[in-house]
Amino acid sequence: MHVNNPFDSNYKFSPLVNAVPELEAFIIPGKFARKSIDFSDPEAVYLLNKALLKWRFNVNWTLKEGHLCPAVPGRFDYLLHANDLLPKLEGRRARMLDIGTGASLIYPLLGTAAFNWECVGSEVDKEAISYAKGLIRMNASMLGTKIRRQEFKSLILPGIIEKKEQFDLLVCNPPFYKNKSEALAANARKNKNLHGADETHHNFGGSANELWYKGGEEAFLKKLAIESAEYGSQIHWFTCLVSKKEHVRTFKRFIRKGNPTDLKVIEMTHGKKSSQFVAWTFQNQENESVK
Ligand code: SAH
Repeated sequence: MHVNNPFDSNYKFSPLVNAVPELEAFIIPGKFARKSIDFSDPEAVYLLNKALLKWRFNVNWTLKEGHLCPAVPGRFDYLLHANDLLPKLEGRRARMLDIGTGASLIYPLLGTAAFNWECVGSEVDKEAISYAKGLIRMNASMLGTKIRRQEFKSLILPGIIEKKEQFDLLVCNPPFYKNKSEALAANARKNKNLHGADETHHNFGGSANELWYKGGEEAFLKKLAIESAEYGSQIHWFTCLVSKKEHVRTFKRFIRKGNPTDLKVIEMTHGKKSSQFVAWTFQNQENESVK
C-alpha cells in the first residue's frame, strides 16, 4: 500500500459510523476481537465505502443498486501511485481523464477531493452517466467535473479528447470480462468463495454492461495501447490497471509499437491482494522536477 494511503483494513468503526450511521447495523465481530462487516454482503460493503469517502474526504456518495461498488482503499492507492508520476505543476491544477468513470464516479471524486485535480470522465453507459452527474450535483467541490459520453463502445479516446486539449494524466479501470454471461458467472463465483470468509475488498456489484468489453480486458488494453500513440502529445501520462497479470506482456508489446519514451509497470499490494497498473508516456521527461 502507498505510504500516504490512510486506509488499512483494520477499520476504526466509530468515526465511520459517525460519518454514515446506517453502517452500525452491519458491524459484526471480526478476528482478534476486532469489529468487521460481512464482505459478502453488498449492502454492508457499499455502506463501508460510503463511510470511508465521507469520513476521509467529506464526499457525499450514493450508488445505484446493481452498479459496480468500488473498494475505495484500492482505488485510492492507484491514484496515489499515479500522482507520483506527475511532474510539479507550477500554479495550475493537474487535469485528469478517467476512462470508464462508471456510475460511482470514483476516480474523479477522489482525484478532486484528495489532489484538487480537474477531472473529465468518459463513459458509454447512459444510465451510469446520469447517475454520475447526480453525484457531481451532490458535491459542490465537484462542479467543475465533466462527463463525456463515448458513443461507440469499441472506441476509447476518439470523440472524447478535444482538439488541442491537454491532460496530465489518464487513469482507467477497464472492463475485464469478454461478455455478459462471463461477468455474471465470475461475480457469482466470487460471492460463493467469500461467503463466511473474513476477507476484504473483494466484493463488487456491477451491472453487466460495466464489466465486459468485446474481447475482454486484453482487447480493451490493445485498443487503448494503439489509440494512445495518436494522443501522445495531448496526454502526458497514460495509466491503466491490468487485472490479469498475464495481460501485462501483450499490453506492453502494443504500447511499444507507438515508441513511448517511458513505460513501466507499477505493482501495488493491499492486504493479501496485489494488483498492478501500466504507465507510459510519449513525452520527453527531461528538465522536469519530479515530485
Ligand atoms: N471507474 C469505475 C468503473 C470501472 S468499470 C470503477 O473503477 O469502479 C469499466 C467502465 O468502463 C464501465 O462503467 C463501462 O461502462 C465503461 N466502458 C466500457 N467501454 C468503454 C469505452 N469504450 N469508453 C468509455 N467507457 C467504457
